[in-house]
Amino acid sequence: MSISDNIKKITSELGENTRLVAVSKTKPNEDIMEAYNAGQRLFGENKVQELVGKYETLPKDIEWHFIGHLQTNKVKYIAPFVSLIHGVDSFKLLKTINKEAKKKDRVIDCLLQFHIAQESTKFGLDEQEAETLLNDEQFKGLGNVRVVGVMGMATYTDDVDQVRNEFRSLKNIFNRLKERYFTSDDSFREISMGMSGDYKIAIEEGSTLVRIGSSIFGARNYAL
Ligand SMILES: *Cc1c(COP(=O)(O)O)cnc(C)c1O
Repeated sequence: MSISDNIKKITSELGENTRLVAVSKTKPNEDIMEAYNAGQRLFGENKVQELVGKYETLPKDIEWHFIGHLQTNKVKYIAPFVSLIHGVDSFKLLKTINKEAKKKDRVIDCLLQFHIAQESTKFGLDEQEAETLLNDEQFKGLGNVRVVGVMGMATYTDDVDQVRNEFRSLKNIFNRLKERYFTSDDSFREISMGMSGDYKIAIEEGSTLVRIGSSIFGARNYAL
């Protein structure tokens, strides 16, 4: 199937509460434009330099999400235009995003990334660390970032039950944080979970943002 067929098929599977982040990392502008011409406006990238290059050369009504591990010294390059940063996993990073957003007179939306997988290689906070951050007086003073939800990656496994349980644990974290810190804040509503291999389970478990790359654009070739 073509890129535009894939976009149409996946979009039809989403339901009302879930949006598609088309993960275009390593893929050329022509592929992104094919998705764009099929109506897709939300794209995700995980390398700062690549994201900046694509932002500069592609249509300005694209909403760019940063989905990877973000280094503090690179925040300044994406601060002028990024619309959501999915992987905030430290207070230091959040403070840096706030500082760079302030310079650009923007408020940048962020998701707190949680470590929900059994694999130790994946990044993310645990719930206690997130609470420490949210309770910090300094956090309350950050006027140029807005925490709008949570993000997580399940273990890479065929074990459907395990994946489902991991997504469920992220949803539970979301619910508890919502209740304790964001009850009257309607903008805290995003649960970013689900990739090509597991997005259907993620949607069933309440994902609001699925991040899908290879099922749209085909396998990535990192050797290029
Ligand atoms: C690459 C990537 C994805 C998309 O992965 P696919 O399996 O190709 O859909 C999703 N989320 C993150 C954080 C990624 O780095």
